[in-house]
Order: sequence, then structure tokens, then C-alpha cells
Amino acid sequence: MKLNEIKLTNPYLALPDECYTRVKPTPLENVFLIHANEDVAELLDIDIEELYSDAFVTFVNGAWQLEGSDPFAMCYAGHQFGHFVPRLGDGRAINIGTIKQWHLQLKGAGQTRYSRSGDGRAVLRSSIREYLMSEAMHGLGIESTRALALIGSEHKVFREEWETGAIVLRVSPSWVRFGTFEYFAHKKRYAELEALTDYAIAESYPHLVEVPDKYLQFFSEVVSRTARLMAEWQAVGFNHGVMNTDNMSIAGLTIDYGPYAFLDDYDSQYICNHTDQGGRYSFGNQPNIGAWNLQALMHALAPMVNSDKMEKALDNYARVYTERYLELMGKKIGLDKLQDSDLELFKQLLGMMQGMSIDYTLFFRTLSRYDGERTALLKLGLYHKPMNEWLDSYDERLKANTSSTKERHSAMLQTNPKFVLKNYMLQEAITAAENGDFNVVDALFEIAKDPYAEHEVDERWAGATPEEFKNQKLSCSS
Ligand code: AMP
Ligand code: MG
Ligand code: MG
Repeated sequence: MKLNEIKLTNPYLALPDECYTRVKPTPLENVFLIHANEDVAELLDIDIEELYSDAFVTFVNGAWQLEGSDPFAMCYAGHQFGHFVPRLGDGRAINIGTIKQWHLQLKGAGQTRYSRSGDGRAVLRSSIREYLMSEAMHGLGIESTRALALIGSEHKVFREEWETGAIVLRVSPSWVRFGTFEYFAHKKRYAELEALTDYAIAESYPHLVEVPDKYLQFFSEVVSRTARLMAEWQAVGFNHGVMNTDNMSIAGLTIDYGPYAFLDDYDSQYICNHTDQGGRYSFGNQPNIGAWNLQALMHALAPMVNSDKMEKALDNYARVYTERYLELMGKKIGLDKLQDSDLELFKQLLGMMQGMSIDYTLFFRTLSRYDGERTALLKLGLYHKPMNEWLDSYDERLKANTSSTKERHSAMLQTNPKFVLKNYMLQEAITAAENGDFNVVDALFEIAKDPYAEHEVDERWAGATPEEFKNQKLSCSS
């Protein structure tokens, strides 16, 4: 479709008034397209040529609204670092309408009623990070919000210094957060809470609409999806960094990309977020925080659902998480079928990697070609003994595999990415972009889309993170 043929809908606006506030975007000055996502355009039935028109940039800048658009910001609360904040909301995201099941949102398009002291803007640096990473997660097969486009501008935005503003047009099947429920529960607005729950069920769990006990089933499925998402993050080595309940998607998607990181050398205690001094959101603590956040959601749903039954549903979290995590780890090392003793094998592996400071992504990619010849693997660490010990166990374990070495390798090469978007790579894209060169953004986008394939890019990106960039912490400022 052409842009001017699109007719947006606004299902969220059918909810009670407390749920949102209408707001017009405030466009940026002197905008230009940095990147458009043709795959997402296809999902939305938007003609590819449209992405490269002037009208499209004007549209992403919020300066031109498509037919049917009725922009609004969503209201929510949330537990931030364990402390309840009764009112947050979209402080810099403006929802501009829905195409099919996809809700479009402009991040960085100006202030809303929920901006508090913020300027409603997003800087180029953080917008590049969000734009590329949401596509990378999708490329890795992990549930995530997506993005249709990224635009830059000459609009000055102040953070620690002057930067320029950007807008990401984000797209998701749901923008509802755990914190959205907490907002209404805290205010004892139970009619709104129920309307919101019905909305979230229809939006993300439509098979439950007619089910008796649907609210309990809903909670139970949110538990499962969250547990599975945490397992996916742990298996791929992704540290989100700001797992506040307002950044937890009710649909089980990875949402709100801030100071995230992929692991460099494996370190279960790695903390990507500079402000997270206590390590609440450290890599290794993510599964626990997933459960903690579900508990907060459970309290919010308590006016509608029997708490004992929800407690029971929450008890499944550890089981679903562990099952999925073991399944993923089994695939990562190429096992056809899991055995009870595999847990020990994984523990031994992670202990070895932690002790030897081995690049998490590179290790599994290298293992994906292991045929008994150990040189390439042994080169990854300084000492050979722990790696040899683990490989002895692995060799033994592989004897129970029925697939051939060739089959195992090809499955593992489809499971263990060659490329993940490490922070130093994103920083290269950002530094170039800040100088007006978007070629690195383009290149990272291509590898993000298919991280398992070979690409004609700098091979350095598939290697271990350079020493000086390892296990850094990022500021939340964005
Ligand atoms: P985050 O931790 O980035 O997900 O943001 C937490 C809350 O702060 C959300 O409600 C955001 O909408 C809001 N926020 C963050 N940055 C800004 C900003 N520059 N202007 C307005 N609101 C913001
Ligand atoms: Mg957020
Ligand atoms: Mg945010």
C-alpha cells in the first residue's frame, strides 16, 4: 500500500480514559532517513518505495499523520529497581495507530503528559541501539518489539552534553507492560484494571477470550512466556539491564532497549547498567528478577484472581524456565536429546568459561565445528586444562548422540550466532553516524537480520571482543 492509502485504527482508545492521554507529536528539525526496515514494511503491507519518499520521513517525524491516526501516550506505573513509582507512562513514546495487529509508536517525538521532567526526546546514540537491537533479537529468534524506521535530525538535545535527537518508529503486537496493571491496581481502579486485562487477553492471548477462569489462565501464560523469554536471554547471553516492571512486556516480548549488552567473556555476574550498583539486573540475576516482576504482576491482578491459584501458577516459573534453558543449551552444544546428567555438563561448561574468561558467542560458534580436533577451541583461552577436561566430558557425551558430526555441525551453526551486536560494534556505528556516516548502521543491520550466516563484513566482529572494550558498563542516559 501507499502511505496515503493506509487507514490506521486505534484499538487502545476503546479503553477507559485513564489508560491514555491524547497528544500530538512534536516534530524534530531538519530530519533525514537513516534506515528503513523493509521486512517490517512488508508485515505492515507498506510498499517498499514508500520508505524512501520524503513523505515517509515527514510521517516518521510526526509532522504528517496518516488517515485514522489519533495519537496518544499510554499511562503506566512500575517498580524501578524494586521501588514502586505510581505514575510513569509513555514519557517520550507516542502511539500513532495500528495496522493489522501491529501498533506503531514514535519514540522520541516529544513530551507527553507522562514526561515528568524529561524532554520527550531520544538521542541518536540510543535510537541506533534500539533500532538495531530489536532487529537483532528478532534475527536470533527471540521475541521482541520491532522497528520500521530510524530518522536523525539536526535538533539539539541535551544529555551530559549536546547531542542530536532521533526518532525510532517502533512496532509491536503489544505495548502493554506489567506496570500498566500496577497503575490501576494501585489506584484501586478495578473497572479499568478489568478492562485492561480483557484488552491484553484479546491482544496477546486471544485463545483465552472465551475460557472460564480466563484471568488466572492469562496470568499463568504470562508466567510461561516470561520464563521462556528469560531462558532465551540467558542462553544467548543477553543482559537487558533495566528490568523494571514498566519494561516488562505482558506479551513476553523483549521491550525497551536501554543500556543492554551481550556478554563478552562469559561472566554470570556481569552488570551492563552503570547505575545498577548492586547488580539487581546483572546477567545471572535476570531469571530471578523475571520471577520477582511476575510477583508484582500477581499483586496487581489480586483484586480479580484468587491469589493462592496465582501462587501455584507462579510456582511453574522455575520449571518452565529450566526446561527451556536446558533445551536451548542442549541445542547449543548439539545434543540430539537431553539426559538428566546434562545439567552437570552445562554447569561444568559455564564454570570453565567463567574461570577462563572465554568469549561466550565465539566459544559456541567455534564448538559448532568441533570434530575432535581441539586446537581452535584451546586457542580461546590461556590455559588448556579446564577446556580439555570439559571436552573430555563432551566427547564422552557425544557418543550418545545419534546424528552424524555433519548434521550436528549444521544444526549448531543455525543455533549459535556468528555475530551478536556487542556494544563496541554498536559504538562503532554510533561514532560513524555522529559524523554523518551511516554505513556501519547498514552493515550491522544486515548481520542483525541473519546472525547465523556469513557476511561480507569485518571478520573482527565475529571474534572475541577486543580487550579494551570487554565487559564495559553503559550509562542509562538516552
Ligand atoms: P526507561 O527506563 O528508559 O524505560 O524509562 C523510564 C520512564 O522514563 C518511562 O516512563 C519513559 O517514558 C520515561 N523517560 C525516559 N526518558 C525520557 C525523556 N527523555 N523524556 C521523557 N520521558 C522519559
Ligand atoms: Mg521503559
Ligand atoms: Mg525507555
